[in-house]
Amino acid sequence: MEIAPQLCSLFERYCMFKDLKRFTFAAALTAVLAPSAFAAEIDFSTRPNYIPNNVVVLTFDDAPDYDHTAEVVNALKAKNAKATFFLNGENWSSLSADESMRALVRRIANEGHTVANHTVHHPHLSEISNSDVEFEVTGMQNLVDSVFGNSSHQLTLFRAPYGDPYQGNDPSNPKESYTRIAPIVAKHAVHIGWSIDSGDFDCNDGDGDCVYNNVTRALGTPGNGDYGIILMHSVYKQTALAVPRIIDYIRANGFQIWSVEDVVRARYGKSSYDIIHGGSTGGGTTNPPVTSGDTYSIVSRFSNKCLDITEPAGVDGAKLQQWDCHGGQNQKFRLQPVSNGIYNLVSLASGKCLDVDGPSVANGAALQQWACSGGTNQQVRLKDSADGSKIISMVNSNKCLDIAGPSANNGARVHQWDCHTGSSQTWFLRK
Ligand SMILES: [Zn+2]
Repeated sequence: MEIAPQLCSLFERYCMFKDLKRFTFAAALTAVLAPSAFAAEIDFSTRPNYIPNNVVVLTFDDAPDYDHTAEVVNALKAKNAKATFFLNGENWSSLSADESMRALVRRIANEGHTVANHTVHHPHLSEISNSDVEFEVTGMQNLVDSVFGNSSHQLTLFRAPYGDPYQGNDPSNPKESYTRIAPIVAKHAVHIGWSIDSGDFDCNDGDGDCVYNNVTRALGTPGNGDYGIILMHSVYKQTALAVPRIIDYIRANGFQIWSVEDVVRARYGKSSYDIIHGGSTGGGTTNPPVTSGDTYSIVSRFSNKCLDITEPAGVDGAKLQQWDCHGGQNQKFRLQPVSNGIYNLVSLASGKCLDVDGPSVANGAALQQWACSGGTNQQVRLKDSADGSKIISMVNSNKCLDIAGPSANNGARVHQWDCHTGSSQTWFLRK
């Protein structure tokens, strides 16, 4: 491990002092040319005010490595939890040269985790030239493209090694290094800081208690501690040992696990892909096609619960809610084509159509089932979201299928609301 950079990460003033000495004409020019460039960031903040206080996000830096990243991925699989991995190309292993490491990165993606960018070589960005910063970001994208054999994994989430120069930056008086580097990164990705540093690199080898205690002490209980993005490194034994216990703690204490993309959406109302590329569709993973006439469970990205018809399931007016997915007929919907891109969602339990009560065009109007009538208040459009999920809007109101609250609880009503692409309005259609 590099000691000085870790000190830099821990003692921000040390880094700022170094930055002051690095002021260059080129940096000044960048500052003049791009003083107000929009750089979307999830900054380093305890208790971020744009997400609920029981949200945590699992992130792992510096993968892949030969010893412990696979153990972390095993633990996540065993606990059915998803994380974001900020990958390096040439750090603890060589992603360009080692097929086993390339296979590990494919496995991370295939098991539903997000792959993100942590540079090729893990440098201090404040200590390298603009062209080298550009290379560290785009070179990692090229490596990941070569790992997957295509460009399906766009690395629109980025974390600078050591948080340099983002950590401790004051937006009202930005560091020179920040002013120089952030616009370069922002062309390619949203920078992701953290709220809770697990300090795993500082724990003794194999001391899982140390990592566990650092994280759980910070978290406490919802409303009574920190929350948000947790920084860990998948390359340490102590981290691999702590991860299952941390997940158990998170769940036992009423926290919910979000993805980094969920946080980006909560902050900016759109995915990192859309922020960078300006579109409203496409993105990190290929959207699985849906097939007219086929039957799906409709799973909330926000809660991981299923769209569900309340009892009694057979009557007109039975309301829609979310509930733990159990595979029952009242959680299955047939995608019945109406016209190009427009469908009815027909309950397998009742043969009735998803329907806006009223029919209303107002926010908060309840969704229910009703005998299929051909009305536009029973017709939906499906729009691809960046992560393979769908946004479902009602044709009569142009409003979106949304979880009231949003609540993560069983029984939370599903209603229509102005579309905002937050995770309470994104759904996975699963067979
Ligand atoms: Zn790192």
